[in-house]
Amino acid sequence: MPDRRSISPALLDWYDRFRREMPWRAGPGQRPDPYAVWLSEIMLQQTTVVTVGPYFRRFIARWPTVQALAAAPLDDVLVEWAGLGYYARARNLKRCAEVVARDLKGVFPSHEDDLLKLPGIGPYTAAAIAAIAFDRSANVVDGNVERVVARLFAVEQALPQAKARLRDLAAGLVPASRPGDHAQALMDLGATVCTPRNPNCLICPLRDRCDAYAQGIAAELPRRAPKAARPVRHGIAFWLVRTDGAVLLRRRPEKGLLGGMVEVPSTPWRQEEWTLKAAMAEAPARLAWRLVDGAVEHTFTHFHLVLQVATARLAASEARKVDGLWHQPATFGSLALPTLMDKVVTLASA
Ligand code: SF4
Repeated sequence: MPDRRSISPALLDWYDRFRREMPWRAGPGQRPDPYAVWLSEIMLQQTTVVTVGPYFRRFIARWPTVQALAAAPLDDVLVEWAGLGYYARARNLKRCAEVVARDLKGVFPSHEDDLLKLPGIGPYTAAAIAAIAFDRSANVVDGNVERVVARLFAVEQALPQAKARLRDLAAGLVPASRPGDHAQALMDLGATVCTPRNPNCLICPLRDRCDAYAQGIAAELPRRAPKAARPVRHGIAFWLVRTDGAVLLRRRPEKGLLGGMVEVPSTPWRQEEWTLKAAMAEAPARLAWRLVDGAVEHTFTHFHLVLQVATARLAASEARKVDGLWHQPATFGSLALPTLMDKVVTLASA
């Protein structure tokens, strides 16, 4: 078992020399901006640092304060968010900005318990904001940290069962001084040195304190229980073109997957494959629909979707009988279509 007390000082010493530059990260000796920390943490949920960088810069340039974001139209926020996925996060981001601007006079709370009450902030994000923005002694445990801790203490138990134990071990490492830098240092170490497949133990500041390195099993940890296969769902999207070129779209219900997003109408997504004949009961109009060659594939967190595309044309005079929104494809860029629908547009237009 490594000497816990010596781990954080060694880590902080390394961090002071090799910390990663990030657009939302305060420089040495600077006070972090809680708005920037919060914004980056929401964007980083399920997304990488590299992907988030340009989005973060655009958001900060357009809405430099939480008050500015709170006052922005939701559709503008969704358009800037397009491509980051998980649109419920963008809606909660907007809601959270409104609560902070209106009820908290633009000041983010500094305690985890108070942060947890805000929309879109779960336990991990609350801990990260408390530690990074306010230097609170919060235990910030993401996948990077789980990996580093599993290796430092040579935890053989597989994830996800090992989560509670890894969290306890990580809590034991949080120092009284500079807990925010400690949290960021652990993340940086996991991202740049103690990487998933090939940990670079020879340059690691914790090598002398690492049980997995001593036992020669670093790359094997953390162990993971075998994953259940992702289920596959099927659907048919209806690409209905008016004679003037406009295409039928609709807005999804506010609650649920891709909540409130604009989409090409489709059948429900189900386990069983659809025939075109069966799908007709779901089509927006009774027409001579024709299936396009190929299909769109898209993976969500809990399932993989295979979406075929059926096309038809409709006289402009008939279009008012059909429920939905008619848009020219040239204007789709302003609609914040989800990535899945971008793929449908590409296939249907080809
Ligand atoms: Fe990770 Fe190797 Fe450092 Fe241990 S010595 S923390 S396994 S990089």
